[in-house]
Amino acid sequence: MNDADAPFEVRDSHVHGLGAFATRDLRRGERLGFYAGRRWSAAEIERLDWDNALTYFFGLSDGSMIDGREGGNGTRHFNHSCAPNCAAYEVEDEDGRLQIAIEARRAIRVGEELFIDYSLDIGDEDPADFACHCGAPRCRGTMAAPPPPKKARRRG
Ligand SMILES: [Zn+2]
Repeated sequence: MNDADAPFEVRDSHVHGLGAFATRDLRRGERLGFYAGRRWSAAEIERLDWDNALTYFFGLSDGSMIDGREGGNGTRHFNHSCAPNCAAYEVEDEDGRLQIAIEARRAIRVGEELFIDYSLDIGDEDPADFACHCGAPRCRGTMAAPPPPKKARRRG
């Protein structure tokens, strides 16, 4: 189902399952929507049985998560790319609640598929279990978050 006002539509993707595609030219910095879904608190997440649903969960800095499978919108169909044309970031709504906003990182042409970098927090799991096939020249090979930068080694 597509939201008539949304600047994108959901249809088959050659990258993975369904994808989101621009329905008009988008400006750099244009807001495309908010990631919606059921909220899980940090305490609930600890008791959660993960069953492979990780790619639908969006983690927030307060330790809670948004589960796009329940009550989600079209933004849950943004596929992952290691060189994404969109970015997701946290904003607070009027009540101070954290939200995930998604915006265009650059000008996007009508019909282009929209991507974000999932940077999944996979804990102790194998990054290879979250293989990436985005095809970007600098593809990390996994949808997992990149390892933290190594500290520069001092010489002498
Ligand atoms: Zn990739």
